[in-house]
Order: sequence, then C-alpha cells, then structure tokens
Amino acid sequence: IKNDGMETNCMVTKNKRETKGGFVMKIIMLGAPGSGKGTTAKVLAERTNLPHISTGDMFREQIKKGTELGKLANSYISQGNLVPDEVTINIVKDRLGWEDAENGVILDGFPRTIKQAEALALILQEKGKQVDIVPELVVPDQVIIDRILNRATCSNKECGAIYNTKFKPSKVPGVCDKCGSALVTRTDDNEEAIKTRLEVYRENSKDLIAYYKEKGVLVTITPENPNAENSTEQVINTILEAIKR
Ligand code: AMP
Repeated sequence: IKNDGMETNCMVTKNKRETKGGFVMKIIMLGAPGSGKGTTAKVLAERTNLPHISTGDMFREQIKKGTELGKLANSYISQGNLVPDEVTINIVKDRLGWEDAENGVILDGFPRTIKQAEALALILQEKGKQVDIVPELVVPDQVIIDRILNRATCSNKECGAIYNTKFKPSKVPGVCDKCGSALVTRTDDNEEAIKTRLEVYRENSKDLIAYYKEKGVLVTITPENPNAENSTEQVINTILEAIKR
C-alpha cells in the first residue's frame, strides 16, 4: 500500500489515515457480483465514516424513479451488460463532487473498466488525490451463483441491507430485520443475467486488477469460508489491517 498522497489538513490520531472525524481514504471494492463487495462496503462505510458509493445502487434508484437515465441504464442492466462508460463516469464524477466525498469514499462497483479507472484517476488527480487501497474479494463461482440466486435486498434505499434466504435469512421472511421494509429480488439476479455478469466481470477485471497491482494498492482477499457468519467481519478486519500498514 502506498503511503504517499495522504491528506495533511486533518488531525492525525491513531495512524496516518485515521483522523478525528473518521478515515481519509479513497477505497475501491473489487470483486465479482455476489462476492460480498457490497455487504463489505456497507459495513466498512459504517466503521470508517466514509460515504458508500455504489454505481449499481445509483442506477437502481434512477430506474425506480423512472428517469431517462434510469430507462437507459435498465436496458443494459437487465441483460447483465455494463452501462456505457461515459454515462457511468458522469454520474460518478458528479457524486464525487458532493461535500461528503471530500475526505474519502468507498467505491463499490466502480470502476469496472480501464477507461473508468483512468477517468477516476483524473478526477482524483484534479483534487490532488489518488486511490489509496483496492481490496479485491476472490470467491468461487459456485458460491457466487448460489448466493445471487438466494439474494434478497431491503427495498428501503437508506437501509439497503442484504440477506441470503439460505445462509443469512431475515427473521421474518420477506421483511428487513433492520428497518421493517419489504425485501426484494433484484431483476438482474436471475440465472441468465448472472452468467453474463460473471463473464463481463472476468473479461474486465483482469486488466483492472493488473492496473491497481501496478499502482501498488491492490489487496487480494480470499475469504476462508465465504458463507460463514463471521466472514464479512474477517474481511473487514483484513482491510482495516491493510489500511493501517
Ligand atoms: P452492481 O449492483 O454493482 O452489481 O451493478 C448492477 C449493474 O449495474 C451491473 O451489472 C451493470 O449493468 C450496472 N453497473 C454498475 N456499475 C457499473 C459500472 N461501473 N459500469 C458499468 N455498468 C455498471
């Protein structure tokens, strides 16, 4: 992990990346759909006080609202394909301009292509910043497919809790433990779209992984037992340890 490029305008406490207000980090979660990157990003956001920015969530919000962007995005998402780079880069650029993203962010699902990674590097560079750490979750395909087919997500976007009807069910079926909202199945969580999504990930991730490895920020994490109850916790600890190194 590179130690240069850290912020100097903050009170440094426990370690160089932890400030009184939280962490100062640009984190990118990499991993196939269903690898647990979304769940990990959410917990990590709570622990680090950084905003969790998921391009998938942003698109789903637009789809729900029925906007033009939502309609366009849905035509790709429903097939398991990537939304075009220009569209995706624009929404991320806009989101990174918000005040809450000033100190740092946890990006989940972005970048997915080298073009997006290069655009992100430029956006950050303009602010005198850079990507600090890129945890990559490696989980076997069979675990992923099984997970996605049993995935249920809270319909309340403020909550967005993720369940697995097999391994991590909600207490009351179809109802979120945390906020009581209905649980829904993502429209792209069907077998056909999953196959495409995994292929698309495999195709693009090789270059992305090489790109961040070369920059010295990649941390590859292979959870020992990805379906174990404490797996997310173990992954989080590994990431927090890597941040402190
Ligand atoms: P996710 O919730 O991250 O699995 O994303 C769901 C879907 O949204 C993906 O399968 C893509 O169709 C689309 N999407 C999300 N992020 C991106 C991105 N960075 N680039 C292109 N498409 C994206």
